[in-house]
Amino acid sequence: MSANISIKDNLEIIRNKIAQAEKKSGRPQGSVKLMAVSKFHPSEAVVEAFEAGQLLFGENRVQEASEKFPSLIALHPELSVHMIGQLQSNKVKKAITFASCIQSVDRLELLQEIEKQCAKLDRKINILFEYHTGEESKSGYTSEAELCKSIEECAKGSFPHIIPCGFMTMAPFTEDEKLIRKSFITLRELSQKLKPQFPDLPLTELSMGMSGDFEIAIEEGSTLVRVGTAIFGERDYSK
Ligand SMILES: *Cc1c(COP(=O)(O)O)cnc(C)c1O
Repeated sequence: MSANISIKDNLEIIRNKIAQAEKKSGRPQGSVKLMAVSKFHPSEAVVEAFEAGQLLFGENRVQEASEKFPSLIALHPELSVHMIGQLQSNKVKKAITFASCIQSVDRLELLQEIEKQCAKLDRKINILFEYHTGEESKSGYTSEAELCKSIEECAKGSFPHIIPCGFMTMAPFTEDEKLIRKSFITLRELSQKLKPQFPDLPLTELSMGMSGDFEIAIEEGSTLVRVGTAIFGERDYSK
């Protein structure tokens, strides 16, 4: 990414591409939310994006997010951060103090821990169920039966502090557009099948699409795209 292109410019480019993809697929303007994935980028980058009007952010690791976001959110309560990476149970306690949503729920035990910690703080939190649709990716529920069991527990009222808002997936890391599209279609069809079975749960969000594939995801029904590199540039994993 060219150094003289700013985060502000990148955001504008992405917003335009989102608008075009919405139009192309006959979806209402503004039906797709943009998350800026700021993992491995410093607070200054988050502030720059915020000053360009970006309010929703995503982070993978609780420790890193907890160093950047609580102070920013205290200053700017309209700003929010979702956890999108695989989450260990022992990190839940910290995560729920500042994250407004956990998108990477992949097991019943995690729901139980989120409920336990949220009950202690008397706060509610949004979650998404992450479903495994791409061969190479390791994260998410791999079995529809397990996923259904978790949703059923929510529907039964077992987790009064948890609001299940929908589903998340990661497409396989491949250039093959057919495979990427197939992964998004799988998630959309799963959500279309499950939603009517749980009419009392919101389950409206479809979080899919990243820098390389968000336009395909929008064509396949994404309501929230998670874009990192195309906004902030390449990540430096050596830090
Ligand atoms: C890192 C990450 C993203 C953003 O990826 P880019 O390719 O940089 O846009 C999106 N979703 C998840 C779950 C991620 O871990």
